Amino acid sequence: MGKIAISILAVLLALAAIVVVRTMMHQPESLADVARVDVVVDEQTVARHLAEAVRFKTVSHQNPADFDSSQFEGFIEWVIDTYPEVNAAMELVRLGDYTLLYRWPGSDDSLQSILLTGHYDVVPVIPGSEELWEQPPYAGVIVDEVIWGRGTLDDKSAVIAQLEAATILLRRGHSPKRTIYFSFGHDEELGGTRGAAEVVRYLGEQGVQLAWSLDEGSFLFDGMLPGVEPLMAAINVAEKGSVTLQIVAKSAGGHSSMPPQQTAVGMLAEAIVKLEAEPVPGGLSGLSEQMFDTASRYMPFSLRMLFANRWLFGGVIEDQLSAVAFSNAMLRTTTAPTMLAGSVKVNVLPIEAVATVNFRVHPRDTPQSVIDHVKTVVAGDNIEVRVPAGSGRAASEVSDWNSIGFETIKRAVREIYGEVVVTPGLMIAGSDSRHYGKVADNAFRFNPMTVSQDDLTGFHGTNEKISVDNLAQGTRTYVQIIALGTGN
Ligand SMILES: [Zn+2]
Repeated sequence: MGKIAISILAVLLALAAIVVVRTMMHQPESLADVARVDVVVDEQTVARHLAEAVRFKTVSHQNPADFDSSQFEGFIEWVIDTYPEVNAAMELVRLGDYTLLYRWPGSDDSLQSILLTGHYDVVPVIPGSEELWEQPPYAGVIVDEVIWGRGTLDDKSAVIAQLEAATILLRRGHSPKRTIYFSFGHDEELGGTRGAAEVVRYLGEQGVQLAWSLDEGSFLFDGMLPGVEPLMAAINVAEKGSVTLQIVAKSAGGHSSMPPQQTAVGMLAEAIVKLEAEPVPGGLSGLSEQMFDTASRYMPFSLRMLFANRWLFGGVIEDQLSAVAFSNAMLRTTTAPTMLAGSVKVNVLPIEAVATVNFRVHPRDTPQSVIDHVKTVVAGDNIEVRVPAGSGRAASEVSDWNSIGFETIKRAVREIYGEVVVTPGLMIAGSDSRHYGKVADNAFRFNPMTVSQDDLTGFHGTNEKISVDNLAQGTRTYVQIIALGTGN
């Protein structure tokens, strides 16, 4: 063997050794320091309460004229009747007419307050889809240990579980050191502009700056990432923004019997293909890197090897993650052409062909940087990028996943569920936390219930449901979050 061949072999062996050693060192953190805690919950009563809550049609309609105030008033009365301990121990303020803000005062004024929140409004059931439901959406029935109906996942389950958790702690005689607020919004599905926004205004007026807040968001996921056996709790520390742009192709128009070589429609098609081929640059850094670094420690050897050696396999990993819609959305600002318009008549060439494209803005980008990218890729003599007024919303701030709030939620989850992979996550939809984040040092978005791939169709869809056991586990976790979070 020549000297060169020996040298190459030596380098390869050294590389292989580094790769293997790094893979062996890429281990999950020890979970031994968190002891399981047994919280006694009257599962059947909690389930019955959620079923009762479902029966109020607290629907957020697109058309304000369809708002049925009696359902919202009914729900509020029911909360006051059903949770007497909460209403005796806490101060209640109604904001934006129907949003409830409870304050449970702590004994130590020097400590910053915290906030737990959820929303009790729900999206409508698509007219005509009622028959697709195995149980009627507003009947509030429990069949075979499963509670059915609109809001059982999004988000009445969180509201009820938080009220139950507070009740359990009050009955135990828990007295918080740190003041805790509970906010139950009535218009989250319409953007929270009357509910959550009013709560934020009110807290600001009172001079309250929260240490942290916990709102709806991700769940404990069962089998969501390939090769990750344990449940995975991605506690969302940020939410994406949104920008909608119009790509406009222009041409002279005329009669369709004598078209030019390329019409406005052809030019527009070319521009959209380009946009999809050149997405906004992204990658495995910051929040997404932390998320996949943690999760990959639970993956089988081959996958662990890739993530443990990002210096060598970084390109391969990013290609793989970008190919899957779910992980691609974690890595970058996404590009989604959603609406098209051309001519108004079959034999008239369009003067303008317009595509509406929705971008979900990753925290590393700004609406302006997305607009700049799009212009660089497609703008030219015949292609204009229009920015409709009010079409952009920046991503939220990224909350600190090494802070006390994150640690509290993480610990509570492990005390109840045992071995769970807890990582920071990124919320790809919107939530009321875009408001609450303004008065909280750190805003987290997470529901402590389990969700599998099958459950996902229930969100805003049909056959929304949650098992009695799942709701009870969520309640137990809230008990621990409140107990640990208020400093006892
Ligand atoms: Zn929701």
